Amino acid sequence: MDVKTKLLAGTIRQLRASRERIVRLIAKIPDHIDDHDLERYHLGMVKEEAELAALEEHLLWCGPCVDRTEAASQYVDTVRAAACDRAEYSPW
Ligand SMILES: [Zn+2]
Repeated sequence: MDVKTKLLAGTIRQLRASRERIVRLIAKIPDHIDDHDLERYHLGMVKEEAELAALEEHLLWCGPCVDRTEAASQYVDTVRAAACDRAEYSPW
């Protein structure tokens, strides 16, 4: 095998490995994304690239989860605003 063929084989191996990782992660998301993960996603707490890719891919085609993402983000923003108000007016 020449060098280019070896490099290509290595790249294909890496792509297969990351595809398998993503397939495993998608399999872990049974039907829809749960509320906790939607909140983590909205808060930017999903750091692992493969999990992030799986969530975003699900959100590309799943209308109900997109609606729930919007609801979750409103919820998080409301809780955050309430927490800020409380911090401002709290005597301690
Ligand atoms: Zn969904």
